[in-house]
Amino acid sequence: MTTTAEELFREDAYLEECEATVTKAGDGAFYVDRTVFYPLGGGQPGDTGEVTWEGGSARIADTRYGDERDIAHIVEEGAPLPDVGASVTLTIDWDKRYRFMRMHTAMHLLGSILRYDVTGGNISAEKSRLDFNMEDTVDKEAVGKALQELVAADHPVSCRWISEAELDANPELVRTMSVQPPRGKGSIRLLEVEGVDLQPCGGTHVRSTLEVGAVRVGKVEKKGRQNRRVNIHLDD
Ligand SMILES: [Zn+2]
Repeated sequence: MTTTAEELFREDAYLEECEATVTKAGDGAFYVDRTVFYPLGGGQPGDTGEVTWEGGSARIADTRYGDERDIAHIVEEGAPLPDVGASVTLTIDWDKRYRFMRMHTAMHLLGSILRYDVTGGNISAEKSRLDFNMEDTVDKEAVGKALQELVAADHPVSCRWISEAELDANPELVRTMSVQPPRGKGSIRLLEVEGVDLQPCGGTHVRSTLEVGAVRVGKVEKKGRQNRRVNIHLDD
């Protein structure tokens, strides 16, 4: 049986729960045919939450991609695992995930304000950061103000899939993108913040920039001559 799960979170990041069937279990992790759990990637942490089945339940401590792009739902140490073939209910820790979605969307906004190459990034529920390849000084106040304006403007955020053939037929689309799309997988998932940002991205985002809410620019760190690390916080 294939253990590659249908990734429900890609089509609808707001799904908190789903039913699924266990396809593989062992070594402290189990795999399912479909899931709402986002696996660690693109600077966004793997989801945590709960799995329940007839006669049992366990906390899911982390979610990671396995070697064959199957999704490992890693249970807390010593927790029981559901049997292969069991029907389970998967529930993510929504409050935490929603903060990741707000943060992740805020990162796209930050990248649209500071139009430099991004060399790294990390998202957490309280604080996130993006590293830019730049020598200029970051005007913290101006960036914070621009960020708040983008949030207040309530730009719609949406995802769509595009084939490599479509991309090749629309070279201006590639030129519009702030990050060049990866090739060789057939189709590419694009994230669009209407009128603000368009780039390939597999993460989870909120539906409109207004939902990002109370975002604030924190410390700006100089990490070498050509690297500026910009931290952002959610103030609620
Ligand atoms: Zn994204």
